[in-house]
Amino acid sequence: MSAADPRPAERRIPLLIVGGGIGGLAAALAIARTGRTVHLIEQAAELTEIGAGLQIGANATRVMDRLGILEAAEAVAVHPERAVMRDATTGETLTVLTLGDTYRRRYGVPYLVMHRGDLLQILLDACTANPLITLETRRHVTSCRVKPDGVTVTCEDGQVYRAELVVGADGLRSALRKLFVDDEPVCSGYVAYRGTMPIENVESDVDGNDVVLWIGPQLHLMQYPVRSGALYNQVAVFHSKTFAAGGGGSTPEELDDAFAPTVKPVRLSAASVSRIRHWPLYDREPLTSFVHGRLVLIGDAAHPMLQVLGQGACQALEDVVVLADQLAAHPDDLATALASYDQARVPRTTRCQRTARPWADVWHLTDPLAIALRNRIFRTRADDDYSDVDWLYAELPA
Ligand SMILES: Cc1cc2nc3c(=O)[nH]c(=O)nc-3n(C[C@H](O)[C@H](O)[C@H](O)COP(=O)(O)OP(=O)(O)OC[C@H]3O[C@@H](n4cnc5c(N)ncnc54)[C@H](O)[C@@H]3O)c2cc1C
Repeated sequence: MSAADPRPAERRIPLLIVGGGIGGLAAALAIARTGRTVHLIEQAAELTEIGAGLQIGANATRVMDRLGILEAAEAVAVHPERAVMRDATTGETLTVLTLGDTYRRRYGVPYLVMHRGDLLQILLDACTANPLITLETRRHVTSCRVKPDGVTVTCEDGQVYRAELVVGADGLRSALRKLFVDDEPVCSGYVAYRGTMPIENVESDVDGNDVVLWIGPQLHLMQYPVRSGALYNQVAVFHSKTFAAGGGGSTPEELDDAFAPTVKPVRLSAASVSRIRHWPLYDREPLTSFVHGRLVLIGDAAHPMLQVLGQGACQALEDVVVLADQLAAHPDDLATALASYDQARVPRTTRCQRTARPWADVWHLTDPLAIALRNRIFRTRADDDYSDVDWLYAELPA
């Protein structure tokens, strides 16, 4: 670069990760632990997560264990005793899934609920402590070109990276996904208001150590404690006419109207959820491959799903260990490593994406007969019947 040329030089990087969310940071950690150097770029000025909770099933706490961060996570998370599903319009408890000791014995690792910021900080600390990882913020990727021997990534500020392998972890509105398909996020018509509050301010009759899900016509409310029980996380979700009509936005009045027909504890809880921001809920149609030359997608960039299974971040965590394992198993053969990653991850994440939609429909039923039948089926379940969730939480074959 000459003195008169203001453009930054092209930087040659062996492995570049785009996106510093849970998926990107976990990928950096997993891959660096196999001995590779990793460079991660993130568009934001800081690596942070919004102030809300995350459920982490055994499939993902198993990954945390592999990454050496489970102990740190358990120290700030909550180990819930039960997942309790209740009818939001009658208050009736419909079904319970035991998440405590029985769950841990079955799957070998715990079910956790934790603050997103806590998980991101744990990942960030582990990445910062690893000399093979470089983290760079304020790098907004605007374009990407895949060539036979590598990938060129260009940022808004003109910085160019040329990498042998690029991992796209840039979330729901991924710029890198555009190289795979010209698709758009699919509007669910539902909107979430969410946030945490001091546990002593909670207006509810629920047990503070449970994950509680209230379901009702075109709505649900999810509640659980985070940060060692100091904070209570609440997510109020409902069908928004303005969002469904393509308006994009929603108002707190819409939230209050939606929850007006629910029982008092649900109404009071929904009224107490932060109104500062809301999240329209989207997924996308599944891809048939996450690999394009030497570009590979993980997390929401690859397979965004409706949040009802509590699996978006968990699947991102699964992605990263499979990717790291395959890169380690085929150190001189990227094509084979990426093909094996694809083969393992596409069917599994497609199943999650495809299961989440009808599962949301079951929660949000409006027809009284269908609701009666659903509730009757839920009432017959035993608390320790894991047959419907084994596919998610049990150890996957190697
Ligand atoms: C209401 C709700 C509840 C949820 N609950 C759960 C749950 O309980 N359990 C669970 O497992 N999942 C849950 N999820 C899903 C989970 O939040 C996501 O699946 C997960 O955060 C995806 O992580 P990611 O790293 O792939 O993407 P993101 O978290 O979206 O990270 C992408 C990163 O890339 C950066 N980026 C984007 N574009 C660019 C660019 N062009 N250049 C550089 N950087 C860029 C972004 O700034 C961001 O930091 C929930 C989702 C919602 C909406």
